Amino acid sequence: MKRSVFKRIAAMTLAGLMAMSLSACSGGGSSDGLAAIKERGVLKVGVKADVPKFSLQKTDGSGYEGFEDDLAYEIAGRIFDMTGEEAKAEDKVEFQAVNAKTRGPLVENGEVDCVIATFTITPERKETYNFSPAYYTDAVGLLVLKDSGIKDVEDLDGKIIGVAQSSTSQAEFEKYKEENGVKATPTFQEFATYPELAQALAAKQIDVFSVDGAILAGYVNDTNELLDVRYGEQEYGICSNKENEELSELINTTVQEMLDDGSMDALLEKWGL
Ligand code: GLU
Repeated sequence: MKRSVFKRIAAMTLAGLMAMSLSACSGGGSSDGLAAIKERGVLKVGVKADVPKFSLQKTDGSGYEGFEDDLAYEIAGRIFDMTGEEAKAEDKVEFQAVNAKTRGPLVENGEVDCVIATFTITPERKETYNFSPAYYTDAVGLLVLKDSGIKDVEDLDGKIIGVAQSSTSQAEFEKYKEENGVKATPTFQEFATYPELAQALAAKQIDVFSVDGAILAGYVNDTNELLDVRYGEQEYGICSNKENEELSELINTTVQEMLDDGSMDALLEKWGL
């Protein structure tokens, strides 16, 4: 009898200890150091699901492919002491789809270790997050229907420009308008995702679909066309939690080395970017 009580107490203590150590491992992903990520065995990365060449979810749902996904494997390779190719073969990245609105909060609450998702480095965003050196530079563009009659920014008076929530697109248009004395005054409508924006344009719910040219390129078809104007330089950086200094430093160093040794260019070329 005594023995079984003792056993039960021992079992309860053991269970308690296990629960404590488990929560220590999984709690607060945001501040998990490199050791915790190694222990976990995978790097959690937020990527876009709908940006061709950069990061696209495969139609069979088996994963993601694109330049930014390969970049995630390169970062994972550095963490797990292997090449990017090996990290890919060994599934060392756990991908999660993000959009312009969700990506920041997911880094902040630690659901992902970092985000590699056409995330433009801005002074305001740098106050909240760590950004790596820029790995790609783009600019904002405007996609219209061919039969809309819109040929120039001055044709946009009273028109509706569709943009993604939490993106830089509206602010960049307003800055461009201000700096170039554009007279036209359009209004803006926000959407959560790019496929929704493309659909809204096709259905003439909006007159213009505006975002970075690289993203728009994935939505050009026979019925629409890009206006001949680009503005607002967009430098993309890998975003990580400021609290996780070890990871941020590793990411920054890896990106800088890839920029310096030509491997970033090679990766861009692989994806036709
Ligand atoms: N790159 C821009 C931004 O960070 C456009 C939005 C997006 O990346 O989806 O706001």
